[in-house]
Amino acid sequence: MGLPPVPRLRQSEVVGVVRISRTVPLQYPHPGPRTRPLPSDLHETAGLPGNWALDFMAPGGTPVYAPQDGLTVTRLSGHDPAEGVIEGDIFGWNVYLRSDAGVTYFLTHMGDRRLSTGLPLPLGMKVGRRNVIGHVGHWPDDPGRSHTHMGVTHPMGRKPAVARIEAVARAPFPRP
Ligand SMILES: [Zn+2]
Repeated sequence: MGLPPVPRLRQSEVVGVVRISRTVPLQYPHPGPRTRPLPSDLHETAGLPGNWALDFMAPGGTPVYAPQDGLTVTRLSGHDPAEGVIEGDIFGWNVYLRSDAGVTYFLTHMGDRRLSTGLPLPLGMKVGRRNVIGHVGHWPDDPGRSHTHMGVTHPMGRKPAVARIEAVARAPFPRP
């Protein structure tokens, strides 16, 4: 007796399965509370077209965690927050994190880029939700303005980029 024929998946079903398997658990970048952002805070990162961002308010010194697993530190830039707010530049240190699927996170206004061990975040390091990648910078002369600006650039454009950063804003807090 032969085995019953194996049903073939239609292409749409295969794509559906792939989509489901690509769903990534996200994480809020700070241990809480979720003070902001509000959906109305959505803005495009200055100097980085296509990077859709929200401002995650938190006191200076708050640990900043990677928003998902499987990210690579692809670029470190910015300037020492001790130099203050420099006209025409973004305040503080910047970190770029890239996923294997090509999604780039840009985080800025950081006071330092130190791991929980105190060692500096190295370029090329693989980070995930367990990793502290730095700390919120103390906004000069305006402590209540301290925040992590985090934006997403998505290979499929604006819509999934906005969806991703808004999902990060709703995501669970890291558990230190
Ligand atoms: Zn911002």
